[in-house]
This record gives sequence, C-alpha cells and structure tokens, in this order.
Amino acid sequence: ERLAPCSFAAGPAMLPREVLAQIREDLPDWHGSGFSLLEQSFTGTAFKQLMADTEQDLRALLAIPHNYRVLFMQGGASAQFGLLPLNLLEPGQSADYLESGLWAHKAIGEARRHAPVNVVASGAAGGFTALPPVAGWRCNPYAGYCHITSNETGNGLQMPGFPELPVPLVADTTSDFLTRPIAVERFGLIYASAQKNLGVAGLCLVIVREDLLRPPRRGLPSAFSYQVQAMQQSRFNTPPTFALYVAGLMLRWIIRQGGLTLMAARAREKSRRLYECLDSHDFYRCPQVAADRSTINVCFQLENPGLLDDFFHQAARNGLHDLQGHSAVGGVRASLYNAVEMAAVERLVHFMNDFAHHHG
Ligand code: PMP
Repeated sequence: ERLAPCSFAAGPAMLPREVLAQIREDLPDWHGSGFSLLEQSFTGTAFKQLMADTEQDLRALLAIPHNYRVLFMQGGASAQFGLLPLNLLEPGQSADYLESGLWAHKAIGEARRHAPVNVVASGAAGGFTALPPVAGWRCNPYAGYCHITSNETGNGLQMPGFPELPVPLVADTTSDFLTRPIAVERFGLIYASAQKNLGVAGLCLVIVREDLLRPPRRGLPSAFSYQVQAMQQSRFNTPPTFALYVAGLMLRWIIRQGGLTLMAARAREKSRRLYECLDSHDFYRCPQVAADRSTINVCFQLENPGLLDDFFHQAARNGLHDLQGHSAVGGVRASLYNAVEMAAVERLVHFMNDFAHHHG
C-alpha cells in the first residue's frame, strides 16, 4: 500500500486535508452566491464580512489588544523588511536589529537601504548555531524600534522568549506564527507571511500598535503605508482575496483543533521526536545548541555529506518530500508547520533510523 506523500517544505507548506476539502467545495459556488470565491468583489458585503470574521478569529486566537490594528498586506515578509523603516522611523532615525540568522541578515540588508541600522548582536561568528544572549545586546535607547526574528527558518533557531526593551519590539514571526501563543502586547509590531502556517502565498499579516501609525513619508507608496491601510480596513487597493479566504479557513481549523496552546504542544512533541532521533546517531549532526533549537524547522547535516543525494532520493521514494536545507546552509531541513501530522514525523524518524543503519 502506498502511503500519502508528506511535504516537509519550508513554505509554501502543506494544508490540512479538511481545509483543502473546504476549498474544493467553495471554489465553484461560494456560499450559494452562484459565483466562485475567486470571482467575489472585494468591496461586496460578503467579502467584507469574510475579512471582518478573519480579523475577529485572529484577534480571539492571539488575544490581540484593542489598541492594535490588523493589516492584510501583500509583498510578503520580504517587502516588510523595507517597509518597516519607511513606516516606523523618522527620517535619519536609526533602528536596532538582532542578527540571529539568514532571515535577520536579509531584514538588516533591506532596512539599511532606508535607514541607519545598529546590529545589537550577531550569531554569524558561530555560524548561527546559537542565539546571542540578551545580556550581551548593545541596544540604542534612542532607536525607533528593535527588530528580532522569532524563528530562523533556515538555521533552525527559535527564540524561547522575548526581551523587555525601552524601544518598541518588532518581530518577523513568519515561520512560527500561530504555532505558539505570543503576547502581542509586548510588541510594537509583529508580521508574518501566510504561506507556512496561515494558508497560501500572497498575504502578509501585520499587527501594529496604533500609536506607531503615522502619515506616509515621501517615497512610500500608499498601498504600503500602515496608516493608509489601517484607515481603509486593508482595502486601499484589492487585497489578496483567495489568500484571505484560505487564512480564514486556517484560523477556524486551528480554533477547532484546540488553539495555540495545542499547536505549541504538537510542535514541541514533533520536534522532540526528531531531535531525539538525531542525537541518538553519530551519523547525523545537529549543531544548534539545545536551548535555541527550533520546534518548527529542524535543521541537520549528515556526517558524510556525500550521502545527501541518496538520502533525499530514498526519502522521496518513501513519500517524504522537500527535505532540502536552505540553499545557504545545505544539509537537511524538516519543517513541521501546523498541518504536518505526528504520523508524518514518525515516518520520517523511521526512515532516518533505517538510513543510518544501512549507511552508518
Ligand atoms: N522571514 C522569514 C523568517 C521567513 O522564513 C521567510 C520565508 N521563508 C521570509 C521572511 C520571507 O517571506 P516572503 O517569501 O513571503 O517574502
């Protein structure tokens, strides 16, 4: 019997079967409207209601305080890298950044095109295998904000907690959004692309404290101004309607499953099984320090990199797909987003034990 294929891709990621089934049902005729959901006007009553419900479900799930606005934006988290300084800083004002890995590095590079950036600490010298301890961060108390990356998708590092700082904390939560509870009130802004844990590509969520909104400065397109989109309920221009609809389905799926505490428990259990397997074989090497290991992206190497192609090939023959590490890191990466089931992880562990025994 052939087992269903599992994707461990870093994103776009797997969707829950129930969500895919609902999409299939809604696609030709959405809510008896006679039109596909792809054909709905974004200014129509039905679609406005969908946006309002989606925001409500997100607010309930994350306990978002009233003084925060939820924005549905486009351009991905990568666009936010440049939009953060343009939206949040006064001309000439600088921002603090933690360089925790490849994604933080990219965020810094884009921010530098628009504003002075102070890197408070970097894990680069250690090859991004540990997070720089907060006690050693060199923060600027006059910075407009301090940017962190809650989960480094390519390096397999995840911040276990978040520091108390005198400036607003801004977080790229793209790869662990909705995989654990997060205290929104501790942040000035959090953002996340949707294609890992909240559905499909095309939508980027921004949750921003109201007092940080300001009129768009020269050079910032209105469609990318937080204030403009906040004032127009994310309908300054056409929002990504399909991605918004899928996000709504994902939110309801997470709520039905038991919410973020349950998602976090599952992620801990799935990743624990994998790390346990990795640590029990000399055949595999997992260089991340235990305390900072990600519960979402488990990254590791084979002691003999010459066996990697065979590893991927054999894994795919067993229905275990998209295990390639980030191109700048190499090796193997198993991404364990919300829709990846424990049974898939058990199959991967079984395969890894077998592979190590045959080649070790
Ligand atoms: N930040 C992090 C932590 C990511 O994992 C990714 C995507 N892998 C991005 C930013 C970029 O997201 P996008 O491709 O939607 O711009």
